[in-house]
Amino acid sequence: MPSLPSSLEEVYASWDSAVRQKDFKRGLLVASDGYRLATKKKSHADEKILLYFIKMAVQELLKGTSNQAGVEEGEDVCSFCCRSTEGKKAVGGPNVLICDECIRTAFELTLDQGS
Ligand SMILES: [Zn+2]
Repeated sequence: MPSLPSSLEEVYASWDSAVRQKDFKRGLLVASDGYRLATKKKSHADEKILLYFIKMAVQELLKGTSNQAGVEEGEDVCSFCCRSTEGKKAVGGPNVLICDECIRTAFELTLDQGS
């Protein structure tokens, strides 16, 4: 059972060092642990920041692998996995879209510590 980081300050420091080293795999884990901690603390501002960090890490990790699914120009794509959301359920905001599969993945990631 992975333990949560003790403070959000620690999370931000770890994220900062992961980004400096361009280690986005570690960054993703740090940010998702941080997100779990922010959720536990009900700190919505930190939740938002950490979700953004998760997105940034995922995008960095996906660089060079986008467009693998033959996405058409102008077609809506998931901001996380870069696959077309055509015919799928997706949730969006301005300039961002997340598909049902990524929602499930993110949900499982944040809940896998059990309660
Ligand atoms: Zn997706």
